[in-house]
Amino acid sequence: MQSNLSNLIVMKFGGTSVENQERLLSVSKIIQKEINSGKKVIAVVSAQGDTTDKLLELSKKITNNPDLRELDVLLSTGEQISIALLAMTLQSIGIKAISLTGWQAGITTCNCYSSAKILDIFTDRINNELKNHDAIIIAGFQGINKNEDITTMGRGGSDTSAVAISAALNAKECLIYTDVDGVYTADPRIIKNAKKIKEISYDNMINMSDMGAQVLNKRSVRLAKKYGVEISVLNSMSKNPGTKIKKIKEVDFSANPVASLVIQKDLFLLKIKSKKFDYIFEKIQKNKINISDIFFENSFCLMLLNQNYLNQIQELFVNFKDYEINLNLSKISIICTNQDIIFEIFAKIKKITKNIKIKYAYVCEYISIILESKFNSSIINKIHDSVCS
Ligand code: ASP
Ligand code: MG
Repeated sequence: MQSNLSNLIVMKFGGTSVENQERLLSVSKIIQKEINSGKKVIAVVSAQGDTTDKLLELSKKITNNPDLRELDVLLSTGEQISIALLAMTLQSIGIKAISLTGWQAGITTCNCYSSAKILDIFTDRINNELKNHDAIIIAGFQGINKNEDITTMGRGGSDTSAVAISAALNAKECLIYTDVDGVYTADPRIIKNAKKIKEISYDNMINMSDMGAQVLNKRSVRLAKKYGVEISVLNSMSKNPGTKIKKIKEVDFSANPVASLVIQKDLFLLKIKSKKFDYIFEKIQKNKINISDIFFENSFCLMLLNQNYLNQIQELFVNFKDYEINLNLSKISIICTNQDIIFEIFAKIKKITKNIKIKYAYVCEYISIILESKFNSSIINKIHDSVCS
């Protein structure tokens, strides 16, 4: 259901932006500034700091295999703490604010506990509250399914809540406040010369997220593209300009870097005889283990996975001997804004990496290389500096 309020602005604040009193107050000041300029604010929030991880640890003390309905009841409490604290902080500086959980805000999802998709947002309650309040604080990452049970949307799901709410309220723009200044040509913690990107197209951002960039939840960018919601990624602790994710005409590509680079470290390859593939694949899917890539080589199937899943995989297949594991791999992906030069870029990368072993390479819409050696940051910096500027 769509509504329309032209002075409405949707903001999302991530876990670090609301992690303590001081941060809650600076977020409140950001919201206050918009209200003072005549706007009404919808703020979607995540759980404070590492609350969600802590809640997961609590459940693991009881079982490694919790009932997913109950897990969602537990995990959704993190966001509920944030909305109440932020509403109280706003009220303490004189702003008419109210908090709403996902279900109170009318967010309905499919039945899939722990990875629920939003089906619809019934905006009546939000619209009613907007009559008497200047700020509505909504719990991200959660909704309600048709059984009236709480569901959560998978890690990082608050971004998706924020974009979906923007679409439902017909807000043109969604401001996503986080702890970095925007989207960079690579992770600035690893790549010295990473540059902030001013504007990036939906498709390139989707590719970056698919390749493992953490800055935005991938589902949120797909949703933004579908509904034409422009996303701005901003830092809640600085006034620096951020990154806009929007529809970009091809002619504008020249204004932006040619490519960006995404690094995924600590991966492993699971090598299985193709014939056993179905059995293993089904088990992996059932246990919600994320596969980064699947490819086939002769009569083997290879799956690339994050090393966080290593123990789980070994537990799953204790009695199954027909597989091999190859540890300590890194995947470097280059996402190009200009498809015409993708092979040129690949040639440059081949030159830089001529002395190290590339185990697999994929060149199509983007470039992915899987390095057999341990993570080599000087090579990655060289690749970045040669192709992403
Ligand atoms: N609190 C959830 C998580 O940490 C959802 C979110 O932050 O978007 O994954
Ligand atoms: Mg979080």
